[in-house]
Amino acid sequence: MIVVMEPGASEEVIDQVIRRLREFGFDVHLSRGVERTVIGAIGEKTAEKIQQLEATPGVEKIVPILQPYKLAGKEFKSERSQIEVNGVVFGGTRVPVIAGPCAVESREQLLETARRVKEAGAALLRGGAYKPRTSPYSFQGLAEEGLKILAEAREETGLGIVTEVVNPRDVETVGRYADMFQIGARNMQNFSLLTEVGKTRVPVLLKRGLSATINEWLMAAEYIISAGNPNVILCERGIRTFETETRNTLDLSAVVAVHELSHLPVVVDPSHGTGKWKYVTDMAKAAVAAGADGLIVEVHPRPEEALSDGPQSLRPEVFQRMMESVDTVARAVGRYVLG
Ligand code: PEP
Ligand code: MN
Repeated sequence: MIVVMEPGASEEVIDQVIRRLREFGFDVHLSRGVERTVIGAIGEKTAEKIQQLEATPGVEKIVPILQPYKLAGKEFKSERSQIEVNGVVFGGTRVPVIAGPCAVESREQLLETARRVKEAGAALLRGGAYKPRTSPYSFQGLAEEGLKILAEAREETGLGIVTEVVNPRDVETVGRYADMFQIGARNMQNFSLLTEVGKTRVPVLLKRGLSATINEWLMAAEYIISAGNPNVILCERGIRTFETETRNTLDLSAVVAVHELSHLPVVVDPSHGTGKWKYVTDMAKAAVAAGADGLIVEVHPRPEEALSDGPQSLRPEVFQRMMESVDTVARAVGRYVLG
């Protein structure tokens, strides 16, 4: 349920209500809007508790939450959330672009990519140090060595780092380097991993599972938020369909649906969404036209030499042209990509 506070309720009054909710055994999640504060209370409710809460000073009303994702849903918070990652805001007027290679392969490869994407106007740098590969014989990533290279690139370029964590036991290590955790499609329902990143305050980019419904995806976000971390950004990266011409089917209607159902920002990944570099720019433009709050794009200085996802990776000069044309579309819908 949501406890809606009266406009202008003081900190002291809000604290009293929170204390009361905790005494009643509720888990408390505070949301401060521009107009008023609402408190999400998750737990066993009885008519008696509700009556007493309604009579508590500062409480305007108590509203049940009907959506299954209590904290990720619009019923809990009707305004769009803005989530900041290393000074970059998702969910505002700017549409930030996260760019970089699929995997960190070497210091030279990553630093070169970082410089080039920064020049082209990227807001954050991506690169996997732990790769969830379909085959156990494929390149699995450089692990902590890769994280150190990412840290060096951040040091040099100032770009915040987005990198995947695949194992709950690595959350602490990855959290020391990452400005945003990526939870990959294959781990969207790895509930112990979701809970583990939920115990931190590091923003989380939650990719949609290979065959996940929007409901399942939002329930996965709920795991993270209910564990205590409200900083979740969703990422549509294509889903499995009967189509084989593209690697996945990029579901842009999910952007619109998520905005209808949830307050969380949603980013689109046209690289994994199509699997073909030639399709990336057009789908990036379409994503921004549909209201995406950000993009994540794979860029490699020499895609033909990439250890993973070369066929969908843009060369830096193609990425630069993509940024310019995506900016034009963004401006047509009242947003922007390039400052
Ligand atoms: C990736 O971003 O390189 C990746 C593995 O993505 P996904 O989890 O969407 O397949
Ligand atoms: Mn990839």
